[in-house]
Amino acid sequence: MEVKTDVAIIGAGPAGSTLAALLAQRGIRVLLIDRDSFPRDKVCGEFLSYDALPILDRLDITAKLDRHGAPSITRCRVVGRKTNYEFELPSAARGVSRMLLDDLLFRRALSLGAEDRSGWTATRVTSTQVDIERGSEKATVSAKVIVGAWGRWGRFDTQLGRGFIRDQRHRNFGFKRHYRARGPSDLHSIELYSFRRGYLGVSPVEGGITNICGLVHSTRLSGLKGKWDAFVSSIRAEEKPLDRLYAAHDPAQHQFLSSEPVIFRARSAVERGIIMIGDASGVIDPLTGSGMAMGIQSALLAAPTVSSLLGTSDRRVAEDAYRAAHHQFFASRIRWSRQVAKLLSHPALLESAMRLVRNPKPGHVFLASTRASAEDVDQIASAWF
Ligand SMILES: Cc1cc2nc3c(=O)[nH]c(=O)nc-3n(C[C@H](O)[C@H](O)[C@H](O)COP(=O)(O)OP(=O)(O)OC[C@H]3O[C@@H](n4cnc5c(N)ncnc54)[C@H](O)[C@@H]3O)c2cc1C
Repeated sequence: MEVKTDVAIIGAGPAGSTLAALLAQRGIRVLLIDRDSFPRDKVCGEFLSYDALPILDRLDITAKLDRHGAPSITRCRVVGRKTNYEFELPSAARGVSRMLLDDLLFRRALSLGAEDRSGWTATRVTSTQVDIERGSEKATVSAKVIVGAWGRWGRFDTQLGRGFIRDQRHRNFGFKRHYRARGPSDLHSIELYSFRRGYLGVSPVEGGITNICGLVHSTRLSGLKGKWDAFVSSIRAEEKPLDRLYAAHDPAQHQFLSSEPVIFRARSAVERGIIMIGDASGVIDPLTGSGMAMGIQSALLAAPTVSSLLGTSDRRVAEDAYRAAHHQFFASRIRWSRQVAKLLSHPALLESAMRLVRNPKPGHVFLASTRASAEDVDQIASAWF
């Protein structure tokens, strides 16, 4: 079977679905491909940073978050061995499960006219064609523009020979599980905890659930063979704050969910004529809680490029301009995130740092350095809306 469209987007996470919604809103023919069917769960801290919300507002998503009771998060607390460090966020973020958020965005894209190819896996990609399959059904999609929104790790990264795939030394893995607090819980704070070569984020989400999600360097997992219970027991034994945290929560999901490798090496925003967005175009350290916001912003940044590629624009000029804009918008945020992650993965160092710093300024600098300002978001929005 052969299918023709203007734009084929591979991946319907926050980045892919946002771009599909933006393009479909303009009447552009978009095919939105994802191997999963929605709703579906995903390893994520589920903290939706405030700098994504002005864009989601324009897609009528924030009102839906209100209706589903996604908590507003206004504070961040770093929990050390003996010292805590707290600061206010400049605007409220939201705690929202990926089951809910990704489904809302995906359905919004469809309601605006994007064509649904969920449940279909893309198996081969070029700058104008994607092969997709669902069970024994196969199809070839021909499109004027192909967008890679397949996340931080996928078969195409190998097929396209992307350099970061070869990095065996800097691999991390994410793990997540939902819980219910045994006692009253703080619905308006995100918490960060440290352990050797990793960290945890604790975020309230809709339905009275607490999400506990962590990232750990692969060297800490050898011999565990995916037994996350055993790993969590080991970090509880090392760090008292983690022991108290887990003791105060009962699991609300049967098992842990774990991620594919997370590698923080730079990647290109255009790869062999394929426009990359979201994690496929650059991965910010999860400790910032801004990967989803970055994905949503990159969709907005890419929308004018994709639209211009449907017209008579010079392809190379348009691709170079997108690459440069992407670098300017995201590169320094990614660099900053890695520096802070190093501190958060050393509990003793973190404790010493928190004892020295008793004012919220470093927290505010961290926030400003790892996300877009309101003016930055306005600027990319005005280029599209
Ligand atoms: C441990 C951890 C904690 C995190 N915590 C947070 C947080 O609290 N807040 C935050 O904002 N971010 C967080 N992040 C980052 C966040 O999860 C990502 O930045 C975000 O999911 C990127 O969105 P995306 O749309 O680019 O990709 P994804 O959400 O990864 O979506 C990619 C989609 O592509 C589909 N796909 C892949 N390959 C194919 C294929 N061959 N064919 C068809 N479909 C395909 C997948 O099924 C998936 O639905 C965290 C990440 C980790 C690892």
